[in-house]
Amino acid sequence: MRRIYLDANATTQVLPEVLEAMLPFYTQRFGNASSIHQPGQQARAAVEHARASVAALLHCRPAEVVFTSGGTESDNLALFGALQPASEIARGDHLISSAVEHHAILNAAEELERRGVELTVLRPDRAGIISPESLRSAMRQNTRLVSIMLANNETGVIQPIKELAAIAHEGGALFHTDAVQAAGKLEINAKDLGVDLLSISGHKMYAPQGTGALYVRRGLHLRPLLYGGSHERQRRAGTENLPGIVGLGRAAELAQEYLQTGRPRKLAQLRDRLETGILAGVPQTEINGEGADRVANTTNLHFAHLEAEALVIALDLKGIAVSGGSACQSGATDPSHVLLAMGLSPERSRASIRFSLSRTTTDDEIDAVLTTIPEVVSRLRTLSPAWKSAVAV
Ligand code: PLP
Repeated sequence: MRRIYLDANATTQVLPEVLEAMLPFYTQRFGNASSIHQPGQQARAAVEHARASVAALLHCRPAEVVFTSGGTESDNLALFGALQPASEIARGDHLISSAVEHHAILNAAEELERRGVELTVLRPDRAGIISPESLRSAMRQNTRLVSIMLANNETGVIQPIKELAAIAHEGGALFHTDAVQAAGKLEINAKDLGVDLLSISGHKMYAPQGTGALYVRRGLHLRPLLYGGSHERQRRAGTENLPGIVGLGRAAELAQEYLQTGRPRKLAQLRDRLETGILAGVPQTEINGEGADRVANTTNLHFAHLEAEALVIALDLKGIAVSGGSACQSGATDPSHVLLAMGLSPERSRASIRFSLSRTTTDDEIDAVLTTIPEVVSRLRTLSPAWKSAVAV
């Protein structure tokens, strides 16, 4: 069966060029980057080359890039590292985040709250945007850190980070952004955005799972999460994941090329064609996050009177991989916290699907999806009591 993968926000394939760059570092060039002998020095050179490539993507200095095991670790390092929760100083410090963050931020923030940090969670408007005014009025004397994501993983909605960071700084707080879903999709200039900390994850940008980085503005001291050797300038102990880091570096170079060729515009056209095709071909559908700026590859659509889970499974049986707007936690399908925070009803949240295209998605694939979806949705709806009673009214 032909397989069409429209779940790039969950993870992306490792591009052949990335794999090719990584392979020698498993078998021939496998040194420990901390060793002083030749193989060690070659490994060090490869890590530093990758650091320069990631820095070029984020328009920052190589020394400002800390390699981690992924987005979750980068987010945790930013929050725990900046607030230093183990020390007495952190008690009573104020952290501001938002209700649309990934759980890597939300759960870390809640843990900080349990350890004595005061937490404010900002709510977005119906389009999913955190307004600068809401941040301004949440700022307090003791606000030490603000963490708001750059692009949302479920809706693709882009936040006004530059403005938000400026407000945090006016109030004397640091600003972190989770840019996991923005890296490789949007131009990111850490300095221009005015952020102090910025997280990225390799597997959302065609590098392997278990790789990532945190941008740490020069001069900012972070308390590490891990204690051990003095790797990563004492900001992240542990022998570097050499092949993974090389892969992330190569992926960053490819992302830079991709962004410079204008191909994201082509991807946005494909996404728009998918979106308008579904809206026109399937009754009672609407966009979640409409009216906001969104990354080019993502659309989150509501299919009234349908269980997202049933649609995900039915499409999977047809070879199409998409994701429910619902987060599957501990086996239970909860309505998406992101869509609920935007003020959408639990019913609408449970009836929403995320399509996230990748750089390799083709016109042909979108045609096939547009043919399949109306037929699958109409079949599922004939089985749905909610749809039957809605149609009968
Ligand atoms: N932040 C966002 C916005 C994400 O989408 C994800 C992954 O889905 C993460 C953080 C976590 O990244 P990782 O899977 O690399 O730990």
